[in-house]
Amino acid sequence: MARAWHLKSRPEAMPAPENFELKEFDPGAMGDGMIRVKNSWLTVDPYMRGRMRDVKSYVPPFQIDAPLEGGAIGEVIESQADGFAVGDMVNHGAGWRDEAVIDASTAQKLPELGVPAQSFLGYLGMPGMTAYFGLLEIGQAKEGDTVFVSGAAGAVGSTVIQIAKAKGMKAIGSAGGADKCEWVKSLGADDCIDYKSDGDLLHKMMDAMPNGLDVYFDNVGGEHLDCAFAVANPGARFAECGMISGYNSTDPMEFRYIMNLIGKGIMMKGFIVTQFMARAAEFYQDMGAMVADGKLESQETVHDGIESQVDAFIGLFTGGNTGKMLVKV
Ligand code: NDP
Repeated sequence: MARAWHLKSRPEAMPAPENFELKEFDPGAMGDGMIRVKNSWLTVDPYMRGRMRDVKSYVPPFQIDAPLEGGAIGEVIESQADGFAVGDMVNHGAGWRDEAVIDASTAQKLPELGVPAQSFLGYLGMPGMTAYFGLLEIGQAKEGDTVFVSGAAGAVGSTVIQIAKAKGMKAIGSAGGADKCEWVKSLGADDCIDYKSDGDLLHKMMDAMPNGLDVYFDNVGGEHLDCAFAVANPGARFAECGMISGYNSTDPMEFRYIMNLIGKGIMMKGFIVTQFMARAAEFYQDMGAMVADGKLESQETVHDGIESQVDAFIGLFTGGNTGKMLVKV
């Protein structure tokens, strides 16, 4: 019998195991245009926390006592859809479960880039696209710019660092802990701030960027964002990707330095990666070339077994991952 994680109750602050339940479920009947997929990799991503709130947003909220959804990579084990054969590996949105019956039009066959299948949930998947278009389109980053990236040891941030270096920018990261910072530097970052070490963040950022920042790729919000206003150069661009420091917080964010936005003419723009999905071919072409040139590498933190998915999810908010957080079914 197939199993899926269900949302049992909505978390108020930090999600806890009792908010979730792993239950047997019926994946549904096959029909014309449908495929049955045996999932081999499941992803957990911070945006899923937002879908656990019962509020109107860019994606509908998860329903109580219904299977959760999210990215997954799996093998087609039954097909009634043209163009999909048993044995094909696909990327699709019916994760948090070990087996899925889905409309084949919602699945993508994996591109041939000579990388492990799970890479398409990380630096060659949704987080990679977020990094690529967030940096180059939203942040308008160009050769010679100083790019500051918070959450730099995570899936999106570590990809931003590597794209920035591959395209001739100066890349400064911020991550929680000395080991994470060492890894960020091993990816080519010019420097990495350990925001959890002693000392105040503003001075750490000013020391790491004595000539200011031209692009801030924001994964974290809160104090990082506030200090970025102070360190920004005139005309800096802020790509507002995420604000994970606020996802489980009930306190309002406070900004001491936000008035710099005006005097420095800072351009701040939020985005959702789905707005760039139509440009997937361009992404695979450019990223594929960087992979072939050895300019991109991936690291994964892998939890074993579907039973571990909730731990993996909660780990996103406690710094439990270096690189992409994944679950191997
Ligand atoms: P990560 O792989 O970066 O995992 C989350 C990391 O966030 C943790 O490992 C932790 O790293 C850091 N973190 C957690 N809590 C805090 C905190 N209070 N302060 C500072 N850092 C914290 O996740 P992703 O790469 O998948 O996502 C990164 C960001 O991008 C998220 O904000 C996410 O919501 C956003 N996002 C936005 C998209 C869009 O379309 N706009 C699409 C995809 C992601 P550490 O140990 O360094 O603290």
